[in-house]
Amino acid sequence: MLKKLWILPLMLLVFLIPMVSAQAAAKPEITNVRTATRTDANTPFVRTVLDVSGKANPKLYIDNSGEYVFVTLPNTGIGKNVAKSYKPNSNVISRVTLSSRSSSMDVTIKVPRAVTKNDVKVFTLPGATGSKVSSRVVIDINDKSGKLKQWSHWGDTNIGIKGATKPSQSWKPSSTKQPATNVPAYSSSKTYSLTKGLQGKTIAIDPGHGGSDSGAVGTYSKEKDITLAISKKVASLLSAAGANVIMTRTTDVDVYAPYDGAVEELQARCNIANAAKADVFVCIHIDSFDSPSAGGVTAYYNSKTPYDYGLANYIHLQNMKATNFADRGVKTANFYVLLHTNMPATLLELGFISNPNEEKALNSDAQQQNFAESIVKGLADYFNHNGN
Ligand SMILES: [Zn+2]
Repeated sequence: MLKKLWILPLMLLVFLIPMVSAQAAAKPEITNVRTATRTDANTPFVRTVLDVSGKANPKLYIDNSGEYVFVTLPNTGIGKNVAKSYKPNSNVISRVTLSSRSSSMDVTIKVPRAVTKNDVKVFTLPGATGSKVSSRVVIDINDKSGKLKQWSHWGDTNIGIKGATKPSQSWKPSSTKQPATNVPAYSSSKTYSLTKGLQGKTIAIDPGHGGSDSGAVGTYSKEKDITLAISKKVASLLSAAGANVIMTRTTDVDVYAPYDGAVEELQARCNIANAAKADVFVCIHIDSFDSPSAGGVTAYYNSKTPYDYGLANYIHLQNMKATNFADRGVKTANFYVLLHTNMPATLLELGFISNPNEEKALNSDAQQQNFAESIVKGLADYFNHNGN
């Protein structure tokens, strides 16, 4: 008798616990929040993306002052480790705040300059994880400051995909090319060589930006032109050293299509290197920042192979001998091209176009040639050390 009395509450517990947790899992949650700026549209904008673990049905509301943009997600919660406040960009979005209200989530975006409905677009996309139930809520807010000049590197691959561009009238239709995103990411089968010498190596050079995407803009020059000029010099030095050079572009063009999405564009560049079974991938960019005093040279890598760091480091060491720009070091990053190339890769930021002294130097044939030579020396060092 005593035994049976104990069993009943126990059994209730056993049945109730899974029901409670199943209910909790059923309510979609915001699992991640991120922002990026885009200046490759007619009107630059800041994009905020919320990952949601289920279906999302966002509702937009802008207050009378135009200084607050509210997006409500009915029947949505927030993941445990998701921060509730963000300060992404002082010019376009000064603060993003997440707050729970009864069963819904309110996303409040404070903007420093009043916006109207014409400045804000809210839409949903399928989930970034590829899961059928998850979704992304995208909030695009136009830049009214005129200060957005930097095309930020979309390190997060999931922030913009094909379809993300549709709501904007300023986008031109994508080309009918095979979607670049169909190509699988990093292949584990090693195709790259680590033997000594540049002779016979296949080296992919990726001049950042191009065509409809000017990259960062200085007071009189554009990133896409400087990256191409340096890349061409690198290519001719490498060819002279007996390497097989693969360039993702040799003229002022988009590699995938004009006004394409960031993922298509960046994947197209990776595809070229992957298809060529390049031994290394070197991506050349020029940095930019709000303040003109920021400057210096950075080399980025992601340790998807044991040799990405060596590649970045050997080139960076040589780059620092080729300039008087500050040394910002060798850093890890989740940039798209670093992750989606099958070979060791580095992304070089060769100074700041927003820094007047560096912009001037970067437009000079002398500094361009210095960097081209240092990149080639660094590549030679890398192979001569077998990538280590
Ligand atoms: Zn760039």
